[in-house]
Amino acid sequence: MEIDWKNLGFGYIKTDYRYVSNFKDGRWDDGELTTDDKVVLNESAGVLQYAQTCFEGMKAYRTVDGKVVCFRPDLNAKRMIDTCKRLEMPTFPEDRFIEAVKAVVKKNIDYVPPYGSGATLYIRPYMFGSNPVMGVKPADEYQFRIFTSPVGPYFKGGIKPITLRVPDFDRAAPLGTGHVKAGLNYAMSLHAIVDAHKQGYNENMYLDSATRTKVEETGGANIIFVTKDNKVITPKSSTILPSITRRSLMYVAKHYLGLEAEEREIRIDEIGNFKECALCGTAAVLSPVGKVVDHGKETLFPSGMEKPGEITQKLYDTLTGIQMGKIEAPEGWICEIA
Ligand SMILES: *Cc1c(COP(=O)(O)O)cnc(C)c1O
Repeated sequence: MEIDWKNLGFGYIKTDYRYVSNFKDGRWDDGELTTDDKVVLNESAGVLQYAQTCFEGMKAYRTVDGKVVCFRPDLNAKRMIDTCKRLEMPTFPEDRFIEAVKAVVKKNIDYVPPYGSGATLYIRPYMFGSNPVMGVKPADEYQFRIFTSPVGPYFKGGIKPITLRVPDFDRAAPLGTGHVKAGLNYAMSLHAIVDAHKQGYNENMYLDSATRTKVEETGGANIIFVTKDNKVITPKSSTILPSITRRSLMYVAKHYLGLEAEEREIRIDEIGNFKECALCGTAAVLSPVGKVVDHGKETLFPSGMEKPGEITQKLYDTLTGIQMGKIEAPEGWICEIA
């Protein structure tokens, strides 16, 4: 295996082992690690016809002292349970989820990038309806899998600020599935992101679909803003995916940086008052946003297009410092794997 850790993109690289467990007759089997990366399904499997699938995303990090850890996997396990309930899928128990994550990372330990390379081992737990369905109804059989892939930064160009546009598409309906990690949310975001890229923007900044006046999030990351008096704020909405990175950053802002942090409704017409903006998520980590374009109306944040704002940089350094073992973590945030 020859991997150029420093130049890795965010793409799939096949690793040696993956975890598989099957749900049949109302129960999960014992699960196993396998080298087989193929999934063979009936042509009418629930996932193929009615998109009954969901996923999680997390990372394993190599710490400064050479350990391999992951970050708050209990929250991924819980969020997947919430997602499965919303999609009428069986839930995979939290303790088994965490054990499976540990086992699959241990088996692929040589793919965990070295400390300081900027790369990490991405971990993708997911589940789908696997038996044939014809009428619109939940499947009876499911497969839960976890694969891993070494990844570099999500946005090319690393920590350079990006530009968002406010699209003419919605992401989530008020009582829909925006708050869960359902595959269907991403299928319908693909047209909007391809269109954004065509128009020269990096990502979409979705508004609430009921009133189209309030900021929600992007297709795959939550958003934070910093006010002129250094308060960290993030949109409050029942249709935003509850990002573990965002929840952790709000804690870091308060308890490590001594800043005020608040979740509240944020109107699109007030973003010109803020001095910094950034996207946050496991894949994006914390990516600075330099500019937002809303149908010709440009908001250029004072932090500019060259480098992250001061608070964004501090939040990034503190969170990644915690993940890489350089800064002491709050109780229970770091799960040691090896
Ligand atoms: C996964 C995801 C996020 C980020 O969540 P993390 O738990 O921080 O990785 C944010 N928004 C959407 C829509 C997502 O799918």
